[in-house]
Amino acid sequence: MSKELELVNSEIISCTKCELHKSRTNAVPGEGPHDARIMFVGEGPGQNEDEQGRPFVGAAGKLLTEFIESIGLKRSEVFITNIVKCRPPNNRAPRKSEVETCSPYLDSQMRVIKPQIICALGTPAITALLGQEYSATRAHGKPVSKGDMTVLPMYHPAAALYDATLKEILAADFKILKNWLDRSPKANISGSSNDRSTKRETLENWA
Ligand code: URA
Repeated sequence: MSKELELVNSEIISCTKCELHKSRTNAVPGEGPHDARIMFVGEGPGQNEDEQGRPFVGAAGKLLTEFIESIGLKRSEVFITNIVKCRPPNNRAPRKSEVETCSPYLDSQMRVIKPQIICALGTPAITALLGQEYSATRAHGKPVSKGDMTVLPMYHPAAALYDATLKEILAADFKILKNWLDRSPKANISGSSNDRSTKRETLENWA
């Protein structure tokens, strides 16, 4: 792990900026290479993640790993994290104030890692990265430019666990991710990820 990412991790692990730190067992900074080309961003740790201090290690994580492998990647090649790094009690959705308080950590991770593409899993992650006008239902599978990066909205794998239709949609969106990766140069794109401007790209470009 790079020194910069280690620093971000240690800040997350000792963070007390919002109420969520009081009930956590472990903060969950995220995991993956410091120069990952792809970043997956979920909503927040659940019980398994809180217990282990690792992201996406429960049933939804197993499905996410299957999808990652279905397009020829290894889980160990991608960076996986969440919009909030501590478990909301009883798995409630993270509050807007909690997402905002935690957002500098995700910003730092994006700045250090400089992923080419960020897969936002589920509406809370999608709106945190792109704004309120986006939702999984309307935006999934359509890459959106954000500064030097691209955000690909997707359904959350937890939503696909018991819904065959959503599972098919998620599988199709992973194929869009694969097409996008096959058509993009392999080198990481450098530059600031703090530019919040967004530009829609057409699905036809990548489907
Ligand atoms: N769901 C999430 O959004 N994140 C995790 O880390 C696990 C489940």
